[in-house]
Amino acid sequence: HAELYATLVSEGTEQQGYLFVFRDRTEEERIDEIKNEFISIVSHELRTPLASVLGFIEILLHRELPKDKQKKYMETIYSEAQRLSNLINDFLDLQRMESGRQSYHFAPVHLPDMLRDIAEQWQDKQRHRVNIHHETGKELWVRADVDRIRQVFDNLISNAIKYSPGADHIDIYLSADQGRVTIAIQDYGLGIPEEARGNMFSKFFRVDNSDRRQIGGTGLGLAIVKEIIEGHHGLITYTSEMGHGTTFQLELAQFEIADMDGRIVILEDDDNLA
Ligand code: ADP
Repeated sequence: HAELYATLVSEGTEQQGYLFVFRDRTEEERIDEIKNEFISIVSHELRTPLASVLGFIEILLHRELPKDKQKKYMETIYSEAQRLSNLINDFLDLQRMESGRQSYHFAPVHLPDMLRDIAEQWQDKQRHRVNIHHETGKELWVRADVDRIRQVFDNLISNAIKYSPGADHIDIYLSADQGRVTIAIQDYGLGIPEEARGNMFSKFFRVDNSDRRQIGGTGLGLAIVKEIIEGHHGLITYTSEMGHGTTFQLELAQFEIADMDGRIVILEDDDNLA
């Protein structure tokens, strides 16, 4: 796209030429699109919980209510404020990652321990059982940023549970082969329509099917997951069948170092990794 910026004239008024300015409209359009998406998500996802927080506080301030009702309203305020906070954190995380300001602190992470820990937390909150199948029986370590990789599994496990309202469990399979660790998170839920394939990891993308309109979310989770996995030089893919379920599969580089006798030793300290 070019815009006429000025008409060049020399002394007098005789026209000598034109000055055009070339601008990359596609980049501008992309930024506009992101801004519009952001505005629409802000108006919907931020205003709704904020309105309910304000509404309940107003009732608590101006009405005499029995203790149990007061407690119920305060719990609603708490969970709505939590939702706001999650959205803002997700959005800031993604901004930081996309702008390249995310720094990763790599260290050996024992995957089975981490997954068991996350599974326990989810089981306390939800009725889904989280089964971990550790196929190799071997120790599985990866070199990862522990907080970020935890965020990945938190997101994927939470999605697997959230989008399988009719199921009572999910399965996680761990295996290792030729220096790669594979983690598969399988659910028996709603599935992902084929037409969503190209967009699943785009930010703000949500599947807009009638089967999941009531399920809350921001469409930022998988975009964050993808950024983190790329930061770890890993791979994420999925297979899915509508009405039957979805499996997200991650591949990460296995972390193992052999000692002088060829035994595998795990270094506990990041400084030793160089
Ligand atoms: P959110 O869950 O906040 O909408 P995500 O980025 O985590 O955002 O996921 C994007 C969309 O992908 C979701 O809206 C959902 O429809 C779909 N999705 C993600 N994980 C699953 C899953 N395990 N099963 C079915 N659909 C899923």
